[in-house]
Amino acid sequence: MTSPPRTRLARIMATVGPASFDARTVRAMVDAGMDVARLNMSHGDDAWHAQAARLVRAASRGARRPIGLMVDLQGPKLRLGRFASPLPVQPGDRVTLTVDAREAHPAAGILPVDWRPLVAEAEPGHELLLGDGTVRLRVEKVHGARVEARVLEGEAIEPRTGLFLPQATPQSTALSRKDRRDLALAVKLKADFVALSFVRRAQDVIDTRRAIERLGGDQLVIAKIETRQALENLDEILVACDGVLVARGDLGVTLPPERVPVEQKRILYRAAAAGKPTIIATQMLESMRHASRPTRAEASDVANAVLDGSWAVMLTAETASGEHPVEAVAMMARIVGEAEQIQRSPRRLSARHGVTVSEGLAEAGVALALDIGARRLVALTRSGATARLLARFPLAGGFVAYTPSPRTLTRLTLMRGAIPRPLPAQRDPERALARVEADLRHRGEVARGDVFVALSGSARDPHGSTSRLVVVRVR
Ligand code: PGA
Ligand code: MN
Repeated sequence: MTSPPRTRLARIMATVGPASFDARTVRAMVDAGMDVARLNMSHGDDAWHAQAARLVRAASRGARRPIGLMVDLQGPKLRLGRFASPLPVQPGDRVTLTVDAREAHPAAGILPVDWRPLVAEAEPGHELLLGDGTVRLRVEKVHGARVEARVLEGEAIEPRTGLFLPQATPQSTALSRKDRRDLALAVKLKADFVALSFVRRAQDVIDTRRAIERLGGDQLVIAKIETRQALENLDEILVACDGVLVARGDLGVTLPPERVPVEQKRILYRAAAAGKPTIIATQMLESMRHASRPTRAEASDVANAVLDGSWAVMLTAETASGEHPVEAVAMMARIVGEAEQIQRSPRRLSARHGVTVSEGLAEAGVALALDIGARRLVALTRSGATARLLARFPLAGGFVAYTPSPRTLTRLTLMRGAIPRPLPAQRDPERALARVEADLRHRGEVARGDVFVALSGSARDPHGSTSRLVVVRVR
């Protein structure tokens, strides 16, 4: 393509929280580059989230730019029950966890756990991690409602602290009762994406998709990779989901910190091969919770995530509770923009397993646009599938994704490089192309004699496939 305008390709997601819970801040975040807003169901009630969604929609209207909405489910995060004060421990101590609250006796080292299946999941020899991983226990015996364990590491066990079983493969359902309520809220708020926490296998994603359908929703399901089982089952999860999020907060508890960067890269490469959207999250610009500038290490982290091929980078505490939510988004956008200056776009997908007709056509479209110096690469997409194919190529200037579907329009916010635009539905593909040509001319993006390359499905093809590649010379 010839000198396309500079466009940021990788998407920016940011969490709306108390620090950004007003119209002016959300609008400023949109103007600074936020493409998708995340609502974290671990905090806040329904009314709060409904108001946050309204703020995002209003900012999107005001800025005349589609903004995606992602509802992030808390997931089955296991916790200890309540007890009065932290229990001091030291390595070698014995502690007992009980799923029967009546047996709990914290002063005697018998602590309540809110999660019944613990006694079925835990086995002697398993490790249990508490809190952010600072307390480690080894299971010695499981009997009745109790799990007896030995302290390997740690100083105190806090009430209500998180509990991890890295070696167990819990059979319990992916969705807690709270998750099901939050899922209903996500459908009601017409969220674009639902992020599923603590995914363990493809079935968790499939169950969530079914639950969404039963609620009458159509949300895309993003699998948060933060358990050992998800790392083991990554390829099947990639088939089932609509995107993966590398949740480095909990992943860094599940794994030793030195494993996180390696797994992050492996997830990005596997997801790229599967053609699914990727999001890197947590602590990306952590120091900006308080400081007005990130550390050099953080700037490098964001840049490297993009250079490793992530479709999106996400802010969490920085924008939810930090002191500089707008500056954090602006800084992230600048780092991404700079990184993309040196990013090379692959012309071909890895063909290890062969390419489908749709993939082959996308490859050909990208190569053709580059070779003939097309002014624009365009996707006409009903479901967003053609845009998802083109998002695999981080082409300078990106591509324009026209869709007749308002639902697809806001989901295109997760597709790397996509510039989402509405286009009235047309039965006749020639008419659709004429509308695209008129719109590009009207915006001054093409002029008489220029060519643009367009990819689309056709009415005779199955939903979601790409079969037409057209070169248009502008009249
Ligand atoms: P969370 O997800 O904030 O919902 O835990 C992010 C993470 O685990 O990194
Ligand atoms: Mn998490």
